[in-house]
Amino acid sequence: MTATASAQTDARDLFTELTGAVPAGSWSAPGRVNLIGEHTDYNDGFVVPFAIDARTVAAVGVRDDRRIRVISTFDPVPVEVALADLDGLFPAHRDEIVEWARYPLGVAWALQDAARAAGRDPRSLGGVDIALASAVPVGAGLSSSAAIEGATATALNDVWGLELSPVALARAGRRAENDAVGAPTGIMDQMASMLGRADAGIFLDCRSLEAEVVDLGFTRAGLEVLVVDTRVSHAHSTGGYGERRAACERGARIMGVPALRDLTPADLDRARELMDDVTFRRVRHVVTEDQRVLDAVRLLRAEGPRSIGGLLDASHASMRDDFEISTPELDLAVDTARTAGAVGARMTGGGFGGAAIALVDHARVAEVAAAVEAAFAAAGFGAPHVFTVHPSDGAHRDR
Ligand code: ADP
Ligand code: MG
Repeated sequence: MTATASAQTDARDLFTELTGAVPAGSWSAPGRVNLIGEHTDYNDGFVVPFAIDARTVAAVGVRDDRRIRVISTFDPVPVEVALADLDGLFPAHRDEIVEWARYPLGVAWALQDAARAAGRDPRSLGGVDIALASAVPVGAGLSSSAAIEGATATALNDVWGLELSPVALARAGRRAENDAVGAPTGIMDQMASMLGRADAGIFLDCRSLEAEVVDLGFTRAGLEVLVVDTRVSHAHSTGGYGERRAACERGARIMGVPALRDLTPADLDRARELMDDVTFRRVRHVVTEDQRVLDAVRLLRAEGPRSIGGLLDASHASMRDDFEISTPELDLAVDTARTAGAVGARMTGGGFGGAAIALVDHARVAEVAAAVEAAFAAAGFGAPHVFTVHPSDGAHRDR
C-alpha cells in the first residue's frame, strides 16, 4: 500500500473514531517540489513547481449545528470552535489555537470570508467534522502545509457548495498560512497543490497568478526526480529569509522598479554601478533565475526534459554564490548527484538546509542515491533521506 493509500484509510478511520459515523466523502491534495524558480515568487517573478505523488487526505462529514471540529493523526486531541467565532480568532487571537489546527481552521475562516464576499450569508454554511491524515512528510521541503490547506479547502468548497475556482482556493490557503498561522509565504505552494497534473509542471506568473500547465515528459524520457532531504535545518533560516527579502526590495527601490521581476539581465550592468556588492548579487540571482525559468519552459516545450539539466545546475550555482542560501550538505548532494550521472541538480526550497533535487535516468537512480549516501557518510554528515517523487494531479475529491 502506498503512503497516500494508508493516509486515505487513516483519515476515514480517524473520522469514524471521532464521530462514530462514516464520512460523507474524502478529499486530498498533494505536496509539491519546485523544479526551478527559487526566491522569485515574492519578487513577482516566475516559478515551475509540480505536485507530487504524496497527499494529505481530509475525511469530512456534515453536522447539524454550526460548529467545526478538526482532528489529525498528528494529535489525538480534536479542536472544535463555532463557525461564528472564526472571525474573532483570526488573525488577532490565533495563539489560542494549537498551531497545526490553525491550518484547517484558517482555511475555513478564509473560505467563510470568500463566501461572504461572493454574496453568501455565512450563516447558511453548515458545521463540519474534518479528520486529517498525511503522506507528505513535514519539514522536508515538500510543503505539507499547502497539502493540508488544499485538502481542507477542496473539501469545504464542495461541502459548502461554494463553487470557488482552484485559484480562489489557493488564495484561501495562502491567507490561512499568512494570517491564521502567521507564516509569511508566497502562493506558489498552494497553486501547485491545487493545479498540478500528472507528468506536468505549473508555470506560474506570481504577479498575475496566470498559470500554464507545462508538460514535463519525465516518464516518457525515462527520467526520475530524486529528492535528497538533508534533514538539516539551520536555525538562522527565518532571519536569512527576511534578510533576502529586504535585499530584494532594496534592489528594486534603487533600480526604480516595483519588483525585481521588472528587470532583465540587460539591466544588470547598471545595477552593479548603483548598489553595494551584496545587494547586487541578491538582485542578480533573482533576475537570472527568472530568465532561467523562462528558458526552462521554452526548452521543455521545444526539446524535452533532458535539455534543462544545465539550467538546474546554473540555478544551484546562483543560489550558492549570489544568493548565498545553500549549505555544505546541499552542495555535496548536488555535486555528487551530478558526478554520478544526474542530468542536472539543484537545491530546492527556501534554503539554509532542506532538500536538493536531481533529474536522473531511471536506470541510474539507485547508483546516484548510493553515491550521495556514501558522500554524506564520508563527509561526516548525518544520513540524508533519499527518495523519488513523480509529478502528479492536484487537489480533488477521492470518494
Ligand atoms: P512544510 O515544508 O512541510 O510545509 P511547514 O512548517 O510549512 O513545513 O508546515 C508544516 C506544519 O503544517 C506542521 O508543523 C503542522 O502544523 C501542519 N501540518 C501539515 N500536515 C498536517 C497534518 N496532516 N495534520 C496536522 N497538521 C499538519
Ligand atoms: Mg510549508
